[in-house]
Amino acid sequence: MASAFSHAFAAVALGKTCTGRKLPWKFWGLAIASAVLPDADVIAFGFGIPYESIFGHRGLTHSLAFALVWGFMVASSEFKPVVRFSREWWGLFLFFFAVTASHGVLDAFTNGGLGVAFFAPFSSARYFFPWHGIEVSPLTIHQFFTQWGGAVVRSELKYIWLPCSVVWLAAWVVRKIRKSQAPSSKHQAPEKHQASNSK
Ligand SMILES: [Zn+2]
Repeated sequence: MASAFSHAFAAVALGKTCTGRKLPWKFWGLAIASAVLPDADVIAFGFGIPYESIFGHRGLTHSLAFALVWGFMVASSEFKPVVRFSREWWGLFLFFFAVTASHGVLDAFTNGGLGVAFFAPFSSARYFFPWHGIEVSPLTIHQFFTQWGGAVVRSELKYIWLPCSVVWLAAWVVRKIRKSQAPSSKHQAPEKHQASNSK
């Protein structure tokens, strides 16, 4: 896995890239939880389930199917006033799918463990991307506070935090430029007022 901090940061960066709207804390909390959730499968080790099993680490919970189901559940149950299959619902569904799937994507860029079962439960095949140079994060907190953890932090800053920040910043700049070019509502208001007066 990549570290939970980096999965969480990627989730926030993805959200901030997708929208400039001010969103409630619940949205951001769910985004972070969705991005970290797939690693709940580490409990499989405690039950003696082998790593390479579909229910093992980086198995079913890291799959695209899981991300689809989870995205559907979050969009449908956590944002109740939003009508299911409305435009806003689709936006939420796609975002929570993407943020959950981002976990497996980042893991497939790491240099350790087994690959990600992207197509579980239909296939148990494990995948890495052709380039997978992100230092894999240890599974325990104890191991994280060793030299290994230091290498993980440096690697993730370079390959996750930096590119995510660049994309986030670029989206912010584009929005600022668009906003500055859009006709100001202050200028439009008097025209509307005049139009209504002339009726
Ligand atoms: Zn993982």
